Amino acid sequence: MDGLMMDRPLLISSLIEFGARYHSKSEIVSRSVEGPIHRYSMAEANYRSKQLAQALTRLGVGKGERIATIAWNGYRHFELYFGVSGMGAVCHTINPRLFHEQIVYVINHAKDKYVFIDLTFVPLLEALAAHLPNVAGYVIMTEKEHMPETKLDNALCYEELLASENGDYTWPEFAEHTASSLCYTSGTTGNPKGVLYSHRSTVLHTFAVCAAGGAGPNTRSRYLSLVPMFHVNAWGLPYGCAMTGAKLVLPGPSYQGDAIFDLMDAEKVDKAAGVPTLWMLLLSEMQKRGRKPEGFETLVVGGSAFPASMIEAYEDKFGVNVHHAWGMTELSPIGTIGTLLPSMDVLSKEERRAIKTTQGRAVFGVEKKIVDQENNRLPEDGNAFGELLVRGLWTASSYYNDPEATAKSFTEDGWFRTGDVVTLDENGIMNVVDRSKDVIKSAGEWISSIDLENAAMGHPAIREAAVIGMPHPKWDERPLLVAVPAQGESAPTLDEVKEFLADKVAKWWLPDDLIILNELPYTATGKVSKLNLREQLKGYSFPGV
Ligand code: AMP
Repeated sequence: MDGLMMDRPLLISSLIEFGARYHSKSEIVSRSVEGPIHRYSMAEANYRSKQLAQALTRLGVGKGERIATIAWNGYRHFELYFGVSGMGAVCHTINPRLFHEQIVYVINHAKDKYVFIDLTFVPLLEALAAHLPNVAGYVIMTEKEHMPETKLDNALCYEELLASENGDYTWPEFAEHTASSLCYTSGTTGNPKGVLYSHRSTVLHTFAVCAAGGAGPNTRSRYLSLVPMFHVNAWGLPYGCAMTGAKLVLPGPSYQGDAIFDLMDAEKVDKAAGVPTLWMLLLSEMQKRGRKPEGFETLVVGGSAFPASMIEAYEDKFGVNVHHAWGMTELSPIGTIGTLLPSMDVLSKEERRAIKTTQGRAVFGVEKKIVDQENNRLPEDGNAFGELLVRGLWTASSYYNDPEATAKSFTEDGWFRTGDVVTLDENGIMNVVDRSKDVIKSAGEWISSIDLENAAMGHPAIREAAVIGMPHPKWDERPLLVAVPAQGESAPTLDEVKEFLADKVAKWWLPDDLIILNELPYTATGKVSKLNLREQLKGYSFPGV
């Protein structure tokens, strides 16, 4: 027997339409690429998103066609999120930090019809355009007076396009399973893989983002998304702000510690989300100024592990509540979020801190299980660790036009293999032990590179640390610690670090050697690139072996 409820489609356009109607004055504040701060209301954003949808229609863009963006976090990018998806086309956000050949690959693989670019990326596209035969035109996201001289064929001006439209447009209604946006994930090997989100998955994910116990946007929030809009839809925050009417603050191209601090201070940001490297930059700025940005209460961090020493600095020294979240492009991205249960109030501060360093708790909508190498399910007791498999309401079911990559990562019975090795416990708390390819295999036992890195980053003279397994004739692999010294500190010796780690990790985990670098290599999504590090250290062998 079916229920007798209406079957209304979950559509992205309904988020901005709702926001414009019931939170019409909620602000979207962006640092623009041209320089000044730009601010406008949700109602204006909806109006301009409709103008954009009209302009795209006039350009001949049809339902299901792909429109690429290569842009910073700003209001025009926000309009593309809603205008492109809202009219039934697919908003393909591209990470400008990908290698050039990867950018060419993803534009050609997606068969993008138009590419919308911020001024910053005009030279990049000029260099690549000859390799992009399917692109009909490039829309430069600026006004007429800032339009650059460009070698790009068919370069259009964003503001001129919008100015020709009257915004009198009704968002079309279509099936909720329609594709809405596309984001490629760049693995360490092979071509990037496309994750094609639907309207349904995006709206359901938006509910989850807003329900994320204190960490998500709500009507009163002033939310800064340092999470780039070119990667996994900025963790869904633009949609969440439209749904709740939270003020959305966008940093444009300025990601330096002082620029972030000033923007947060000026806009009285209370919540902000980003990857660990940015929180390191902001923390140095806060330490320099001896205070936090005014009103800053909640920090959400994900993308890579966040060491206990950083949580301690934010929470104990500056009174900023830290929520550690875990996710993946394939999960839209939310998979866990760090919120403490009421039953945890009785725990000691150290015990609660230990929970906070985990990747957080299960969220409704994403099912998880851990399996061993033979695919046997492992207990969720907080100790057993194995590969994490997930399925859920906003989890990809395959990669876009990529049967080979799909066969590797998706099981026949409908689970996605994350490649993360984790523990789970009875409260749904997940601890990421490692990426399966980064875990160090020493004499048949596993050493978590993440745990070692987190512990090493607690050393006062170490700013950043990466641990990689290096071949060892006797033990198979042993940990090599690569560290960047903290500002103003001289580099520690291996013995000093080992002494510091002695009561924090098992003795046989202690690194066999220490290499000091001025900086670590990073991937396009802001994670330490162990692949590059391994290449940099090619030919290295442990002293005396
Ligand atoms: P991406 O798809 O580029 O967003 O990367 C997803 C991967 O980032 C995950 O599979 C994890 O390996 C890693 N990751 C994301 N969040 C965290 C976190 N909070 N702690 C540790 N690793 C994380």
